[in-house]
Amino acid sequence: MKKEKIINLFVGSNNQGKIKEITDLLPKSVHILTPKDFNLKSPAENGKTFEDNSYIKAKFFSKKTKMICLADDSGLEIDTLNRLPGIYSARWGGKKNNFNLAIKKIYKELKKKNKNWHKKKQTARFICSLTIYWPNNKFIIVTGKVEGTISKFKKGKNGFGYDPIFIPLKKKFTFGQMNPKEKYKIDHRFKAFRKIKKFF
Ligand code: IMP
Repeated sequence: MKKEKIINLFVGSNNQGKIKEITDLLPKSVHILTPKDFNLKSPAENGKTFEDNSYIKAKFFSKKTKMICLADDSGLEIDTLNRLPGIYSARWGGKKNNFNLAIKKIYKELKKKNKNWHKKKQTARFICSLTIYWPNNKFIIVTGKVEGTISKFKKGKNGFGYDPIFIPLKKKFTFGQMNPKEKYKIDHRFKAFRKIKKFF
């Protein structure tokens, strides 16, 4: 595996919330480019796991740009919903990435399973897989998780996606209520990131 520190990095995501989190996790000295800089669209995410999808994206963007590429795939698994939305987390927001819609769908599906769903702890987890893909076809895939429960109501305006309904284990607040710095220290992306930190 390559040991040289990465200086120029292509971050293979079109999601501004994720790009910001990833940028904040990297040393300031890393020069970051994103699909916007190359006018590139993301590839179809047709893998069966978070790992597969992060690999598909990292390889796709590395081939297109001939750069070292970091891509992530992440999402929320809810146990009562047989681990959905899972790898479909982004898609539950529809074409316009409307997370109000996605959150409404989660509450609707939980209610369908059991109208008293909120009386039971709804265990869930955010998962993040990261792939770094080098132009010489070397790659590394890592995964991080944060366990928690689903809040009865949407709470908080920080973060993005499902943050307002996820309460991490041993905390009283949703990710949406937390200061972003507090979230970054415990979230799935940070935990995955720790495993590839040595490359930066
Ligand atoms: P993808 O990795 O681009 O397929 O998108 C993953 C989706 O999972 C995002 O669009 C969000 O809906 C959700 N997600 C992933 N990480 C987070 C997070 O840290 N907070 C809230 N939602 C997240």
